[in-house]
This record gives sequence, C-alpha cells and structure tokens, in this order.
Amino acid sequence: MASNQKPLRILIAGAGIAGLATAISLVRISGIVNLDIQLYEQATELREIGASIALSPNGLRTLEKLGIDEALGDEIGFRGPSGIPQIYRHWKTNQVVSVDTFANVPDRRHQTARFHRGHIHTALFEHVPKEWIHLKKKISRAESNNDGVVLHFEDGSSAYGDILIGADGIRSQVRASFFPDYKLRFSGKVFMRSTFDASLVEGKVPDLPADAAHWWGTTDSFFSSRLGRGLYTVVGAYDDGRSAEELEKSITWDQVGNVQFLREKYKDWHPVIKALTELTPYARLYPNYAGESLQTWVPVARVTLVGDAAHTHGGSFAAGGSLALDDSLALGLAFKHAFPYGGFSFPQENIQQALALYDQTRRPHTARLLSIVHSLMNRKVPTFATPEEEDEALRTRMKSRPDLLWLSEHDVEEAFNQVVGESEKRNLEAQRTKGAAQLCHGAENAVASPTFESKL
Ligand SMILES: Cc1cc2nc3c(=O)[nH]c(=O)nc-3n(C[C@H](O)[C@H](O)[C@H](O)COP(=O)(O)OP(=O)(O)OC[C@H]3O[C@@H](n4cnc5c(N)ncnc54)[C@H](O)[C@@H]3O)c2cc1C
Repeated sequence: MASNQKPLRILIAGAGIAGLATAISLVRISGIVNLDIQLYEQATELREIGASIALSPNGLRTLEKLGIDEALGDEIGFRGPSGIPQIYRHWKTNQVVSVDTFANVPDRRHQTARFHRGHIHTALFEHVPKEWIHLKKKISRAESNNDGVVLHFEDGSSAYGDILIGADGIRSQVRASFFPDYKLRFSGKVFMRSTFDASLVEGKVPDLPADAAHWWGTTDSFFSSRLGRGLYTVVGAYDDGRSAEELEKSITWDQVGNVQFLREKYKDWHPVIKALTELTPYARLYPNYAGESLQTWVPVARVTLVGDAAHTHGGSFAAGGSLALDDSLALGLAFKHAFPYGGFSFPQENIQQALALYDQTRRPHTARLLSIVHSLMNRKVPTFATPEEEDEALRTRMKSRPDLLWLSEHDVEEAFNQVVGESEKRNLEAQRTKGAAQLCHGAENAVASPTFESKL
C-alpha cells in the first residue's frame, strides 16, 4: 500500500554527526515507512577528520537507542581506569583539585568515553545507505514555502523536498537563510589540538596520568587523554585579543598551527605537561565561537535545525557530540508521535506538530547551556594583589564549577515524554474551555430560541 503513496521527502543539510544520526533516527525511531532521505554534504569525501571528541552518558545512551552498538565498546572509545568522568588538576603542582562524578550510570558502556571524532562519524556513516549521501554539494542558501523546501548549491543545482533539516554545523547556511542577522561571537580563545599515536607519549612521560586529565591554570587550561584505537590527544589554548572579523581573516578552523608555540606556551607548567607538549608532533588551530540561543528552531513551516546549527555553544563542556545525538533522537520521537500509524500520508499539520514537539524538547535544554557559556564568556578576568591570592582564587574556581549533571546525564526520551504530556494537558484544557464556551453559547441560544431542543 505504501508504494502507491508519495514518500515524505526529507532533505538533510550536512552529513556530520548530527546529519547522519538524524537520518538514522528518522528511519529507526520514527517508524515512518515511507521516507525518502537525502543528505547533502560539502566535503569531497567523508574522511576520518577532526581531533578528539567526548561523549557523555546521554550521548552514549542515545547511540545505543539508535542501534550504533559498536561505538559503545572500549575499542573505539577510551574510559579511564578510575571510572571518574573528568579529573581537574592544578597546572603547576599536578595535584587533583576536583573531580566530576556520575550520578546514575551503572552500565560501563554509558560512562563518558573519548574518541577520535572520525571514529564516531564512521560508526554512524556505516548505518546510512551510501546512495542517500551526496558529496561535493556546498549549500549556498535554503528556501521554504507552504508546499515544500529547496536547497540551493554553489554548483548551481537545487534539491527539492517536503522537510528541511539544517545539520550543517556552527556556520550553518540553512540557519543563515532563515536568521540572516544571526551572528557568532569569538570567545577570545583559540584551541590548539593534536591527536597522535599513544606510543609517542605513553611510557615516555614520567607520571603521565592513566586517566584523562584537565589541568587548570589561572587563564588557560590543558587537556590530555588516551582515545580509542591506540590514539592520544592533547588540547591547549591561548587568548587572542583580535575581533571576530580580524580573526576570521587570519585563522581558519582546523588550520595547521605552530607546535613550537604550544610548547612555548606551556613550558612553565608542571613537567608532565611540558613533556607532553615536547612530544606532541603537530598542533591544529580551532578558534572558539559561540552564538545566542535562537528564539525558535522552526523558523518557517517545514524547516528545523539540529546539532551545532541549532545550538552554537562552540564545543563548550565537550557537549557538542552528545547534544547532536540527543537532537536526532528527539526529532525521531517527535515524528513517531505525530505519525503514529507509520505515516502513509503527510499532512502539513502533523509535520508542524512533530517540529513543535522537537523544538519544545530541545531548545530550552540547550538554551540553558548557552546561557552558562555566555556568562563565562562575559566574565571579567579579576586581578590579584599576590600570586597566593590568585592561586587561592583558581582553586576556588576549580571546585565551584557549574554542576552539569543535568546536561551529561540528561534523559532526552523522558524530556520528550514530559513535553508530550504537557502538550496533551494543554490541548485537553483548551478543548474543555471550548466545550464549556459552546455549552454556554448553546444555553443562551436555548433561552433565546424555542426551537433549540428540537435541533438536538
Ligand atoms: C571536520 C570536523 C571535525 C571536527 N572535529 C571535532 C573535534 O575534534 N572535537 C570536537 O569536540 N568537535 C569537533 N567537531 C565538531 C563536532 O563534530 C560537533 O560539535 C558535533 O559533533 C555536532 O555535530 P554537527 O553535525 O552538528 O556539526 P559538524 O560536525 O560541524 O557537521 C556539520 C557538517 O555539515 C557540513 N557542512 C557545513 N556547511 C555546509 C554547507 N554549506 N554545505 C554542505 N555541507 C556543509 C560539514 O562539512 C559537516 O560535515 C568537528 C566538526 C567537523 C565538521
């Protein structure tokens, strides 16, 4: 029967983590049988690029729900021997000042793991039919009207569909098409990242922590961790006082940096860090940008956003991968709810319902993160009379970090069910009010018209 019906044509802009996971979720979670999904990606090939990425319990549980079980094992992701998700160390003494803890993560496979981004991306890619992915398709703009959506590409071609999902990252062209005034702000930090074979440092750096470590200094930090598949990563940062416009002209994302600069920057830090930087073979640069929370994720009928395109938190708190996965699950659940019988026809009303439920589930959650990100970006760097005072303030800051359990152990399915419950309650109340109004109106008519009773 389904074959006689027109499929729901979904265009996904971008085949990163959010785009691929969304395609998988729409197929596996929505239960809609009649889908035509097409992904458009600017890259010429999907290679294992990027550096390290962490997934928290929320993202790992979502991966499992999406059926990407092979990404949950210890081969692809690294979990430290202590079972502690994050350990904060002092930059000069190497002393552990504070730790994050799990609240409720009994299954080891759901405990925070660190990956090469490419390995997670490949794991998702394996679950998406290759013929759905169109490479070398750089989106220039998007359009929508009541009948459908259009993606325009830089090569002059266009694609047409019923729904458009912008999964094209922090510099989304889909977002720019519907929010032309939206601006990203440079946080003032440029990250220097390197990912390399663990044998370059393991057994060579005395006292190298076996767990991931986040060393905090007074203005910057340094992170190191083993990753899955025998890799290792280091991440440093420096302040760059230039404006976003100036910076954009001189540093592109993922540009090769000067590893000597990384070594110089950390030469006075604890010997473990100094030794790590000396063995680090290269550094790539990642200027950090963030934007404000959007007022809606459904700017026009039939269009929405997922991943970094929707919430421009700029990688803060290593939450981007997990948030993108949760977005995709929420969208799949929303379509399942709006098309409970598998979707043989696709009225605009049901599409709108799905997108509204998705927006209500995800936007407030990520807005909460963005408000923390912006308050940290706006924080004035205090000055201190003595190095001791400065050190005391650093330790206090390390211990009074924002509690992010609501983020890392978020249950997106529960959040979605809550939104549905509230929406049903509102609908019921609206119906009751309407019914009561009709009754009153009817009663007035009954008094006014003697024929009312005979009409029943
Ligand atoms: C190459 C790459 C490497 C990364 N490395 C890291 C990392 O090491 N650590 C980390 O924490 N995060 C990294 N990130 C970001 C991280 O993947 C995201 O924060 C998170 O996974 C959310 O993913 P996303 O799919 O929303 O965005 P992204 O991962 O940015 O994916 C967006 C996709 O859209 C494509 N795209 C963008 N613009 C267009 C366009 N105009 N037309 C067509 N396609 C377009 C991009 O090529 C990309 O494939 C990386 C992102 C990319 C693209």
